[in-house]
Amino acid sequence: MHLIPTQDEVVAVLRETGALRDGHFEYPNGLHSNEYLKVPLAMRYSRHQRMMSVGLSRLFRAHPEIRAIAKDLSMVAPTTGGLALAFGLCDALRARQVYWAEREHEQEALHFRQFLIPETGEPVVLVDDILRTGQRLAELKKLLEAHGARVVGLAVAVYQPNPTTVSFGDLPLYYLAKLDASYYVDGQQCEWCRRGVPLEKV
Ligand SMILES: [Zn+2]
Repeated sequence: MHLIPTQDEVVAVLRETGALRDGHFEYPNGLHSNEYLKVPLAMRYSRHQRMMSVGLSRLFRAHPEIRAIAKDLSMVAPTTGGLALAFGLCDALRARQVYWAEREHEQEALHFRQFLIPETGEPVVLVDDILRTGQRLAELKKLLEAHGARVVGLAVAVYQPNPTTVSFGDLPLYYLAKLDASYYVDGQQCEWCRRGVPLEKV
């Protein structure tokens, strides 16, 4: 394994741990897809979590401005899926702290735990397992900036952009693998249904 894992190595780990599966899946919103991807399934194993965190930390170290402030950085995750990576990255960079935002239900705004208040000028790296639409990461960025924190970078294990992905402008974005967006289709027009491929609900 290289110090920065290659795309193929990351994809191999995702497949081997069942985080990335081919098949015929039905999502709660009724859409069908031929791909299932849940990065936390790979993060169950600390060696994989370490490999990905160390890989990302090396990408950050190559960025002189971020390297210079590494010890002051906060790693902040918008989902529990990003936490394993956030702690690993904090450890590998000898950064300052890790925290996360959460919400009880989809209609609620993201918020931090009571007494957890980002500081004015605090340099922050946003960390998540995957960047897909980026909506939750964008909401977290806004929340941090409303407290005066300074977002300096974005780190994810997998970057899977689609035409609706939010732009983060010139914010440095680091990822270990870039995957094509999965193809979603409504059950009625699903090619795999038509071919009689067994369906799994996810
Ligand atoms: Zn189908």
